[in-house]
Amino acid sequence: MATGSRSTEAPAGFSTLGLADSLLKAVTALGYEEPTPVQRETIPLILSGQDLIAQAATGTGKTAAFALPMIQRLMDGAAEAGAGRKGGKRRTRGLVLVPTRELAMQVAEATHKYARGTGISVVPVYGGAPMMQQMRALDRGVDIVVGTPGRVLDHIRRQSLGLDGVQVLVLDEADEMLDMGFAEDIDTILEATPPERQTTLFAATMPARLRGIADRHLRDPARITIAREKTAAGKLPRVRQVAYMVPRAHKGAALQRVLDMESPTSALVFCRTRIEVDTLVETLNAHGYRAEAIHGGMQQRQREAVMARFRAAKADLLIATDVAARGLDIRQLSHVFNYDVPSAPEVYIHRIGRTGRAGAEGVAITLAEPREHRLLRSIESMTKQKIEIATVPTVSDLRARRLELTSASIREQLVAGDLDSVRVVVQSLAGEFDVLDVAAAAVKLVHAHLSDGEERDERDVPSAALPRDVRGRREEEPGRPSRPRDAGRPSAAGTARIYIGAGRQAGIRPADLVGAITNEAGITSRELGVVQIADRFSIVEVPEEAADTVIDAMKRTSLRGQRVTIRRDRQT
Ligand code: AMP
Repeated sequence: MATGSRSTEAPAGFSTLGLADSLLKAVTALGYEEPTPVQRETIPLILSGQDLIAQAATGTGKTAAFALPMIQRLMDGAAEAGAGRKGGKRRTRGLVLVPTRELAMQVAEATHKYARGTGISVVPVYGGAPMMQQMRALDRGVDIVVGTPGRVLDHIRRQSLGLDGVQVLVLDEADEMLDMGFAEDIDTILEATPPERQTTLFAATMPARLRGIADRHLRDPARITIAREKTAAGKLPRVRQVAYMVPRAHKGAALQRVLDMESPTSALVFCRTRIEVDTLVETLNAHGYRAEAIHGGMQQRQREAVMARFRAAKADLLIATDVAARGLDIRQLSHVFNYDVPSAPEVYIHRIGRTGRAGAEGVAITLAEPREHRLLRSIESMTKQKIEIATVPTVSDLRARRLELTSASIREQLVAGDLDSVRVVVQSLAGEFDVLDVAAAAVKLVHAHLSDGEERDERDVPSAALPRDVRGRREEEPGRPSRPRDAGRPSAAGTARIYIGAGRQAGIRPADLVGAITNEAGITSRELGVVQIADRFSIVEVPEEAADTVIDAMKRTSLRGQRVTIRRDRQT
């Protein structure tokens, strides 16, 4: 295993599976922290050369479960004299059959990433794409072909693909391939490969018809069903469970909308990989959220600092991988978000168990890609609880929600009383206007203020730039217009507070400050502390050692086209 800084170490769980260093490096580079349950079970088995039937849906990490050991077996095989070559050309030694063109592209791309640094090559072949291009790629010689049955057969018939060197064969989403009527094609293709090859079959469901294929083509296969632990429904906390079906490309924007709608007071967002955690933190912070990363690539000291900021309510959102979240002692989370569907029902149960503790109802929200619906189903059937499928909030939903929050703020103010000083204004206006109209005008002003003028920016699509507006800060302190919550509070040790002489009235938003500071001063948004925007000024917390650089850099630049005062906050 690699030594040195924690962030480059191979994830501990992976290093016990028997994978070669080059593959461990590849998964580390992809930000994986530990194998998913299906990977833990299948990788050692496939490495041992066994045939295998595994029940695993999309989203469980099944591609890596078959691709990593396949690559390794081909690497080992290549070491045997000339195994991979025929007449100087590489022979195809790995074949993955998949039901659709999309899946062929995805699996080929993923396999290519896992094979980085191994010298193993991959080519996808699927219908609907020019034959010539695929023929040229195959002609150059390739180790692994990922293809749809129809197109693979085409290539066999044209003799552009020879399968007599195949050592490892994978039937991916075999149940889907049967549903699509590929049973005969599969038989024909398998018959064109050497009988001593290793065959593995992956399927989300195991209909009886699949058994026929397995009986004909697999030799004494091991069977893996990802453990279906019995979870007594009573043991699960009270949690409202909702899933939004969102294509991958829209996930970031969808999460922001849902966050705005839900206004969580403290939330944990789970991602699968370190890289996803870092990217999401950057995106959210650039849009004015206060998010912090927690993942296994960070030093213990860094994680503790993040947790301290979260507990002190300087961050509203923790974005974490499962591994890193495991050691966290956080109570009273209002929300748990699954940025991806977790790779197994047990992981889901573990995650949502972090909300809804101590008798309070929690909320668990999952963003799922449409392809992952089966995995959601299997979670439902294991937990025996329903996951409500919802649509991402629209702009008008958000507007309604904002009005609700404004109304709640006004109600709080009414209950708090202490209105004598302003009642006189109402009385004098009541002479000229209807009292209801006076109240409506005042509500409008308050609403515009609380919403930070966001209505102007609303667009229905895309929602990526949808601003944060209805959340925590202003909800907590209605009617406190100009001084940010903790302005005047001493800065945390090691951080400096920078005063910027422009605020809300100048149209400054958190994203402007974060953008300007990260661009001009060369620090990352993760190093920034609290960003507060008051009417006429803003305060940004930066690491003490970067304070002077930030001040110098910001003095040389302009914000929203204007030069503004930049200095250390005098309260510091
Ligand atoms: P699959 O089920 O193969 O479609 O994989 C679903 C997603 O999980 C893909 O985006 C993979 O990159 C990701 N993934 C696979 N294995 C892991 C792992 N061990 N840790 C984190 N993410 C993973």
